[in-house]
Amino acid sequence: MISTHVAVLGAGPGGYAAAYLASDLGLTVAMVDVEPNPGGVCTYRGCIPSKALLHAAKLVTEARHAPAWGIDFGQPSIDLAKLRAWKNAVVAKLTTGNGQVGKMRKVQYLQGRGEIVDPHTIRVALASGGSEEIRADHLILCTGSRPTTLPGATIQSDRLLDSTSALDLPRIPTSLLIVGGGYIGLELGTVYSALGSEITVVEMTGDLLPGADRDLVGVVARRIEQMSKAVLLNTKVVGMKEESAGIRVSFEGADVKDNDQLFDAVLVAIGRRPNSNIPGLEKTKVQVDRRGFIVVDEQRRTSEPSIFAVGDVAGEPMLAHKAMHEGRVAAEVIAGNRTVFAPRAIPAVVFTDPELAWCGLTETQAQAEGRKISVARYPWGASGRAVTLDRTDGSTKLILDPETERILGVGIVGVGAGEMIAEGVLAVEMGANATDLGLAIHPHPTLTETMMESADVYHGQAIHIYRPKKG
Ligand code: NAD
Repeated sequence: MISTHVAVLGAGPGGYAAAYLASDLGLTVAMVDVEPNPGGVCTYRGCIPSKALLHAAKLVTEARHAPAWGIDFGQPSIDLAKLRAWKNAVVAKLTTGNGQVGKMRKVQYLQGRGEIVDPHTIRVALASGGSEEIRADHLILCTGSRPTTLPGATIQSDRLLDSTSALDLPRIPTSLLIVGGGYIGLELGTVYSALGSEITVVEMTGDLLPGADRDLVGVVARRIEQMSKAVLLNTKVVGMKEESAGIRVSFEGADVKDNDQLFDAVLVAIGRRPNSNIPGLEKTKVQVDRRGFIVVDEQRRTSEPSIFAVGDVAGEPMLAHKAMHEGRVAAEVIAGNRTVFAPRAIPAVVFTDPELAWCGLTETQAQAEGRKISVARYPWGASGRAVTLDRTDGSTKLILDPETERILGVGIVGVGAGEMIAEGVLAVEMGANATDLGLAIHPHPTLTETMMESADVYHGQAIHIYRPKKG
């Protein structure tokens, strides 16, 4: 029996962030996960391997474009085994490193499957055999999420992929149907298209990346259309059947011409479901809502006073950086510090080519809420850096309060948007206004100047474009 202040169930970004801060705050911590090291889906089967592959995809795409700049590498030859090994090495480096950081903090790591015995106890079926009980003052549940399966069209086949099996990179299918035009579908579609698959995307709503601002999505959508055989919107998959040459898929939707098509492989990426089916949860007062999320308050406390929950299992958005921040809030609260989870801006990044990123208020949200806003846009055609990169397809926009010129939200589409959005997060979190942003000298020539110049657009004084202030 291990006796500790905090027991953390699930060692993804939410779990390890909570465990490590709790330890830094002087608490004793035990953490349980089925994997040999901390990292969770993000590091083993999500954010990290997909970004490694997207990096490779970017190189291939740029090499294909390079003849336009007078450089010709010829056709890229892809050694899939080596690419897979490199991606696996990236994952191994980060997960073992993470394990070492935990050991240095004296966080006790148990590899195995956890079960709740009572509001203070977790029993772990150890991967090495046998079991161990952890008795803790507080439990933090961070069990994450899993891919949603396609209702009514599920078959058993190696050709049917989800994000996990697609990231294993078993082979490069000649033709790949991607079901779901969201984060995962478009990121993995970008990877497989660069590696040589012919991509078709099917999305049940009327647009890709539903929920994000249309002007920004439009730029990504144009590139996705260029790299795909077809993008079928307002379309549903209603059936799948395996044949010797592939999976025959039946579609239903207004835009579909051919209702019955054969694909070498099918990737289903239609969202994720919270892993709240934790064995023994019923022995506590923890409540789960009708979508399966554990109900938490602003301190991430569940209805059971000794139990906290963070990350995907505790609500949307299902993003690693949101989970880490929540984990840190839970650790602070358990350590007796007064804090709440109250971000003004959780950034979202879709790592497609170009990247799409936003934070804080979006135009879509402002419209839905009937909120008065001002919008200042800066087209990357006027950015010297974007021209040198031959990527003027980007755009930066600020969403501002028309009364106070305060920055309420930022949206960026373009190469590197995922890095640039951090400045937007800081601006929104610190309550910066357009004057603050316009007066902050940004380095030239960089894409970050488009942030400063969007603020100048708002004042009708941008250097590189002529947009006089209206009225
Ligand atoms: P998602 O919610 O981003 O997209 C799912 C898409 O599938 C939606 O556009 C939806 O309309 C569509 N869809 C649903 N049912 C369908 C059907 N039957 N037929 C056709 N289309 C259908 O979900 P995801 O891409 O699976 O990603 C899951 C979660 O993982 C995301 O919510 C995101 O939070 C997280 N994620 C984040 C990143 C990142 O931060 N870059 C990357 C990958 C995943």
